[in-house]
Amino acid sequence: MDLEHPYLDELVDFHGHLCPGLAIGYRATLAGLERLRGSRARDEELVAIVENDSCSVDAVQFLAGATFGKGNLIFRDWGKQVFTFARRDSGDAVRVALRVSALEQGAGPSGDSAGSAGNSGPGDMDEKQRRADYILNAPVDELFDIRESSIELPPMARIHKSVTCDRCGEPVMKTRITEIGGGRYCPDCAGSVQA
Ligand SMILES: [Zn+2]
Ligand SMILES: [Zn+2]
Repeated sequence: MDLEHPYLDELVDFHGHLCPGLAIGYRATLAGLERLRGSRARDEELVAIVENDSCSVDAVQFLAGATFGKGNLIFRDWGKQVFTFARRDSGDAVRVALRVSALEQGAGPSGDSAGSAGNSGPGDMDEKQRRADYILNAPVDELFDIRESSIELPPMARIHKSVTCDRCGEPVMKTRITEIGGGRYCPDCAGSVQA
């Protein structure tokens, strides 16, 4: 067990490997939760907004309990290592943004051994490990710009009734139904019916 990095072993099991992206998500989530004094979200009391869909987001889901399934993980496809954590009860939010300098350190050349002669494979692995180690152990302020923020929170997830698709016979959430010629169709079937 890694005492210096709580939950890291479990997180690596969940994600499948340790990589620089996972390390970024790990540090960003712990920093965000600490600022919010939040613990892992059992239901939807905590909301996370992530601005990328890379490895780092698995750390947000695992550590913050903000998951795709619960609807308290919001994805914005902006290609940025920026994570906002917000509490529904207090309305407090904190925005954690990876610094350029950290990205350069965490992604830069490691000196004379790694990648020499264009070697991939083991050298690549060493380089990834070096970058992950840097991110795991660097001072948090060196890695991230962390600010209080306020955001408009999305409404709580709603449960909708299901209706049966007239073509495939499968139940589908009512709000996803398209009505064509008196029939009710799921998104998958609606295209074929129209064609
Ligand atoms: Zn990864
Ligand atoms: Zn259907």
